[in-house]
Amino acid sequence: WATGQLADEDFESPQFRQFLDLCINCKACLQQCPSGVDISRLMVAARAEYVKRRGLRRTERMLSGNRRLSMLGGVFSPLSDIVMRQPISRILLEKVAGIDRRRAMPAFNRGSFLKVGRKHLAHGGPMEKPVDKVAYFVDAYVNYNDHELGFAVLKILRHNNIEVVLPDQLPAPLPAIVYGDVERARKDLSYNVKHLAEAVRDGCKIVCSEPSAALCLKQELRHFVAGEDARLVSENVYELCNYLLDLLKRKKLTAPFGLIEGRFAYHRPCHLEASATPQLLRELCDAEIVDLNAGCCGLAGTFGMQKKNYDLSSGISKGLKAALEEAAIENVLTECAACKMQIEHISNCVVTHPAKVLARCYS
Ligand code: SF4
Ligand code: SF4
Repeated sequence: WATGQLADEDFESPQFRQFLDLCINCKACLQQCPSGVDISRLMVAARAEYVKRRGLRRTERMLSGNRRLSMLGGVFSPLSDIVMRQPISRILLEKVAGIDRRRAMPAFNRGSFLKVGRKHLAHGGPMEKPVDKVAYFVDAYVNYNDHELGFAVLKILRHNNIEVVLPDQLPAPLPAIVYGDVERARKDLSYNVKHLAEAVRDGCKIVCSEPSAALCLKQELRHFVAGEDARLVSENVYELCNYLLDLLKRKKLTAPFGLIEGRFAYHRPCHLEASATPQLLRELCDAEIVDLNAGCCGLAGTFGMQKKNYDLSSGISKGLKAALEEAAIENVLTECAACKMQIEHISNCVVTHPAKVLARCYS
């Protein structure tokens, strides 16, 4: 199976299904392989073939379309949060959708960030002689769960005289890609290509505060959408902190008003191959940061949310748990929303996106 040569009978084998389920799309293999072989890509292709023959399981169908659930959560917030906190709701969700009852769903913000963010930008007015232009790709978490993070990103960028636009967009369909829901992934990515390519042609760089979204648009996109526009988009995607560090190196970031006080532990998400955050915050705000260097958190997007994967997810998180205990620092920084959920699940730490801390220094 690992060679990628599959026979028809493999798709009937429960062992093969189990084998496919084990890849959490962490991309560690791609970073380790001296020949640059992307094993996760082979796994994704095999899952897509499996789904074509056998269909999606109920939980996978639900998780692959999670943006619709998030949208509903946003529309009915705060009622949706109250309902989701009830033990009976968690039991029902486990029975119906296979989401482990021990997992807490992130709270929703009312409405969508794209809407309130655009109002905010319109209120701020156009910038005179901006140093750069950014199309901010917000992804599902900022759009439905963390508007504060979205505003922090706008604040950092605008404070540094960078023009920001919020083009029409759909969340990066990584769950659909991972579960083999090719049709949905292609549809959502095509929508994004259409609107983001327009922004790039208008002189924008596409900046993502969520590393998995950046990876999806940069690495996965072109496996699903062909053409010049897809190339244009994938070649102009930047993860936020890497983008900011590059500006700092070119002396285009202004000094913040304050320094970062206190100590922070830092967790690098798997989907962020080269993290700029510790260097950025140390050089710009004199931050004291301890890099946990602990590998995968084990949640891996929606993988660890599933009841059937809970034990494996907990097992993978043991290294990170030990590193957190050893560091004994309450405040943790990480760019990934899923890593944040897992760290808060396995510890009492307070987990913050680095952009929020940086935005405070610009206040
Ligand atoms: S689990 Fe991670 S390291 Fe293993 S094949 Fe999948 S992406 Fe690669
Ligand atoms: S590390 Fe790369 S080259 Fe080595 S066995 Fe794995 S895929 Fe093949």
